[in-house]
Amino acid sequence: MSKDNLGICPRCGSDACYHTDLGANYKISMCYGCGFTTNTLMTNESEFLEEQLEILPEIYKDLVYEDEKGYHWMPSTINNLEQGMVYIDGTSIDNWKWAACKAVPLTKEDLPKFPEGSSHKMDMSTVKRFNERDFMEALDYIGVFQTEE
Ligand SMILES: [Zn+2]
Repeated sequence: MSKDNLGICPRCGSDACYHTDLGANYKISMCYGCGFTTNTLMTNESEFLEEQLEILPEIYKDLVYEDEKGYHWMPSTINNLEQGMVYIDGTSIDNWKWAACKAVPLTKEDLPKFPEGSSHKMDMSTVKRFNERDFMEALDYIGVFQTEE
């Protein structure tokens, strides 16, 4: 992460908002403080936004935050087949947490029950909940920051 690309998150005010410029005026912003993300296509009445919203669970839609510039921020979904998932677990915007679930290698007994080529499964017994501002800890819990040797 280059420091130049870090900014203040308009949603939570943390300084861990990471911007990625992909060229052609397309930018992605991802806040590691609160776990919300937006991009330059997620503006009012954008088709891209409509499409995104259609496939999202209700709680994600309810949590969408519009900043001063009209960008819509939504909760990130982390789904890393070999490490685990981080997702929103909650019933309303006043009652939710990040949930992190670790992936574990499939055992010999598991193999026949999974599609060919699968190597890991989500181990629901490892699910741990984190507060909104502890999104980084949730990522850390499933090993996102571990570097492979
Ligand atoms: Zn934030």
